[in-house]
Amino acid sequence: MADRPRVRFAPSPTGELHVGNARTALFNWLFARHHGGRLVLRIEDTDESRSSVSYQVSLVDDLKWLGLDWDEGPEKDGTYGPYKQSERLDLYTEHLKKLMDADLVYPCYCTEEELEEERQSLILSKRMPRYMGKCRNLSVSERDALAAKGRKPSWRFKVPQTTVEFNDLVRGSIRFEGESIGDFIIVRSNGMPAYNFAVVIDDHLMAITHVIRGEDHLSNTALQIMLYRAFGFEPPVFAHHCLILGKDHAKLSKRHGSVSVGEFRMKGYLPAALVNYLALLGSSFAEAREVMSPAEMIEAFSLDRASKSGAVFDEEKLRWLNAIYIRNLTVDDLSNRLRPFLRRAGYQPEKLDPSWMKQVIETVRDELTALADIGEHIAIFFDGRYQMTSEAAQILDSAGAKKVVLAFGEYLESAVGSPVEIYTAAIKHAREKSGLKGRDLFMPVRAALTGKVQGPELERVFAVIGKESAARRLKQAYP
Ligand code: GLU
Repeated sequence: MADRPRVRFAPSPTGELHVGNARTALFNWLFARHHGGRLVLRIEDTDESRSSVSYQVSLVDDLKWLGLDWDEGPEKDGTYGPYKQSERLDLYTEHLKKLMDADLVYPCYCTEEELEEERQSLILSKRMPRYMGKCRNLSVSERDALAAKGRKPSWRFKVPQTTVEFNDLVRGSIRFEGESIGDFIIVRSNGMPAYNFAVVIDDHLMAITHVIRGEDHLSNTALQIMLYRAFGFEPPVFAHHCLILGKDHAKLSKRHGSVSVGEFRMKGYLPAALVNYLALLGSSFAEAREVMSPAEMIEAFSLDRASKSGAVFDEEKLRWLNAIYIRNLTVDDLSNRLRPFLRRAGYQPEKLDPSWMKQVIETVRDELTALADIGEHIAIFFDGRYQMTSEAAQILDSAGAKKVVLAFGEYLESAVGSPVEIYTAAIKHAREKSGLKGRDLFMPVRAALTGKVQGPELERVFAVIGKESAARRLKQAYP
């Protein structure tokens, strides 16, 4: 690439950051970093009724959490600002004026009801719903009469009857016929610019070289290219990546489960795991490796390899990756990250002995697939939370199991040595006394000690619980 590319991520702050949008941000970030270019973050907040500052704050916060940094945008001034559309209204007015002077736009006085009526009648007559140009040829006096009624016009672009063709970096050659597109609104009746208009002006003025976004914007691109032509601007290169789909192959939405970055954060996915997973979806990498660091992803990223067909979101796979990332954290790092989740699960991490807690976390780390599950994994180490599950009770409901547990407990009374020595000797004692081995020997001990039938290695659990507490639990199992 000759010049350094400039790309942008342009979210509308109208909701929580959806993983699909996070993936668009990630692709732009990887592209910019791979080519040594710049990433612009632009806030598209011209839809006043749906945009909110709190969504903007959470959006920015989620991007930071994911580690996707931008070079220009909110909190990072550059020469192409402001980076918020609501602060760029003068620029849109100025550009509308240019199109007015060139007679490429006209005021439209149609009401919502009239437009809806037109839409319905086109649908009924099996034609494609679009604006048929009712206000395109109004005379000055007709316009004045409508304005006198108090109608505020929107501004529509006179769509030329030409073909729009462009080469998409992901999807190849794409073609749209002007005839199938109605004159579209570029400035709404409240004076605010419409998306397709503002985006062209901004992408041009911000010197964006590549527009990378979801394929749901493909048809917008045709309208945008028409505007580029009308202004005499050079259009950027476009790349429309596939969307994330649910298991039913419909666009991933709330009904499929968690969809916002915030929800995955709350469940305790690590940002690096989520980024890795999103990058893998519809893979854009040369190698078929699954676990990749940001540096490796930047190195291997290429839009040419991005898949054209939708990528199905599989939370189980994300969980699997997350578990790998959790296992790779140091215990100290993991402990810090777990703190808010422990509090949420009703623990008071600041009141717990740090070295004991470290041992607890080390013991359960390999079992943990998401941080928010920590509560259920560590409950076995807290006497107050020890609870017998029905599966464990079933295991204990046999003469053999009773023999094992009583023998194990009996040994503890007089045992001395390190926890591992005591555990090993107690198991040996229980084996000899009961004549049982394997599952029949270990399961009753696990069931009585933890109240569960699954969990970390028993020897390690015993070491964390300690001899006294273990003895009490065994007594509790057979009062
Ligand atoms: N604000 C638009 C959106 O969030 C941006 C689309 C684009 O990248 O042009 O969908």
